[in-house]
Amino acid sequence: MTDSGKVYFDFCFEYDASQIAASLSSGLTALGLDKSIKTGDRVLLKPNLIVGKDPRLAVTTHPEIVRAVAMVLSDCGAHLSLGDSPGFGSLEGVLEKCGLQPVMRELAIMAVSFSEEKVVTDSENLVAKKLPLAAAALEFDKVVNLPKLKTHSMMGSTLAVKNLFGCVPGLKKAAWHLRAGHDRHFFARVMLDIYKHVRPVWNLLDGITGMEGEGPTGGSPRNFNLLALSADAPALDFLVEEWLGFPEATPLSLEARKLGLLPESGGFAIGPAAAEPLTPPIKPARGAAAATFPGQRLWRRLFVKRPKIARTRCHLCRVCVQHCPAQVMKLVDAEIVIDYKRCIRCYCCQELCPYGAIRVGFGIGG
Ligand code: SF4
Ligand code: SF4
Repeated sequence: MTDSGKVYFDFCFEYDASQIAASLSSGLTALGLDKSIKTGDRVLLKPNLIVGKDPRLAVTTHPEIVRAVAMVLSDCGAHLSLGDSPGFGSLEGVLEKCGLQPVMRELAIMAVSFSEEKVVTDSENLVAKKLPLAAAALEFDKVVNLPKLKTHSMMGSTLAVKNLFGCVPGLKKAAWHLRAGHDRHFFARVMLDIYKHVRPVWNLLDGITGMEGEGPTGGSPRNFNLLALSADAPALDFLVEEWLGFPEATPLSLEARKLGLLPESGGFAIGPAAAEPLTPPIKPARGAAAATFPGQRLWRRLFVKRPKIARTRCHLCRVCVQHCPAQVMKLVDAEIVIDYKRCIRCYCCQELCPYGAIRVGFGIGG
């Protein structure tokens, strides 16, 4: 039996697979999860592979985390595969850029495409009664979630639950963004619907080097030296946000609490980092400061954070134009122009810009 809401915190100061594996083994034992994967299980590893970036930039899950998981599982005879649905680009190309290909080749971990879709129909889902998910995320015996610790312009943070949004195949992600608009709580409920159907057996957060500022792709790497492990993704997210000193609860944690997915206390932390709490004052993404408070709608209408193009950094690659869910970006006279009246403030453009040329800031109108 495992205790719901229990999260193991440990310090880890470098990407050394042996150290990470030792910490992971201690955490699994402490949480009673050491027997949760058995001989012959087909296990899907789900890292954060939002875009293809050098692992030193802290955008994606570090390859040594994957190596460490494989080391821990090497004795139990599980069959490992790894999959995700990147924001753009092929999975193979993203794996190469993120430094995962050599590790996967060496350890015989198969890459699994998330392009094949399966629609989950569930009238009890919060918003997504018909939920298109990657078939692979539903068909493996076990899922091991490997999120990266980052700030997120829209949702405040991206940790364990948000990482599962990658189980929505390709363009269907844009459709959810379009439906949610800038309603962060609606979007949080979509994530929780996904979590209901894709329940990782472990969530291991890569917070050794994470990201603060303009996350999830354009922020600054920061050494948090944290590994966090739990079978309970909402509890892990809540406790990590507290540990980080987030200025307010994120929409995901608020919605999880409303639904009774968080224990009254929000969960409890165990392990070396929990016993010696450190609360680094994290710098949230500017857009994430959009608080939940009475009069929020009026406030949003008057002062709406919006994406802005830094012309000097823009390479006119048109990735943003092609992936804007609302189709409100276009190339006009060698410049990317945004129709702010129709922009839904989803910040997908900022997430996917390969050159960090899009910032999110406050502005009047739109
Ligand atoms: S994705 Fe970035 S670099 Fe490419 S056109 Fe858009 S703003 Fe410019
Ligand atoms: S311009 Fe950017 S923030 Fe606005 S809808 Fe398009 S992708 Fe979303």
